[in-house]
Amino acid sequence: MNLIVMGGPACGKGVQTKHICEKYDLLHISTGDLLREVINSNTTNSQKIKEIITTGNLVSDDLIYELVLQKLSQNTKKGYVLDGFPRTSNQALMLDVNQNIDAVILLETDYETTLKRVLGRRVCVHCKASLNVDELKGKRCPYCSGAVSTRLDDNETTFKKRYEIYKMQSAPLIKYYEDKGILYRVLNNSSIDETSKKIDEILSKLKV
Ligand code: ADP
Repeated sequence: MNLIVMGGPACGKGVQTKHICEKYDLLHISTGDLLREVINSNTTNSQKIKEIITTGNLVSDDLIYELVLQKLSQNTKKGYVLDGFPRTSNQALMLDVNQNIDAVILLETDYETTLKRVLGRRVCVHCKASLNVDELKGKRCPYCSGAVSTRLDDNETTFKKRYEIYKMQSAPLIKYYEDKGILYRVLNNSSIDETSKKIDEILSKLKV
């Protein structure tokens, strides 16, 4: 089973993709995480990518597709879930060349809810768990005791830019996948578990 989880910035793609991958034993491909790995690796591309992410812009389609292909070539699981890719029409076309996608889960959230989430989001430096500042109460990661930090792009100015770019460049993909008959909308306005249940229901009915 090959899936895409899409939606605006900080709509919960990462958390729900993790859930799906654990339940169905699929490979989690997060392009945001792949780019953050490149930034941390201090290679020639690192500084340029850091600037792009910090300002809320998109990296080039060619670069991101190369990273996705690399990850796909190492896949030993029965399928994968793309989290954060494709984000432009061109990326969707690139993917269509030799990959077959069974379903696209669109997580729907509103601007205010996601902005609040972004401002309170902390990430474990070690296990990459996504955490909330109020729940942490100044403590270390509850899963691995790692230190926590704030993402480069989790501030109001960058969030506004990411949201604008989502509406202009990524939202047109909704129609693209709707026309193919593989788009499933999930309202992500309650708890993580409620949303996971809604996704499980959709996936259990898929004839793959
Ligand atoms: P979010 O979940 O908030 O959307 P991500 O972790 O998925 O954030 O992505 C962080 C940033 O990485 C994006 O704002 C963008 O700069 C870059 N990025 C991630 N995926 C892509 C992509 N498919 N194409 C271009 N840039 C990307």
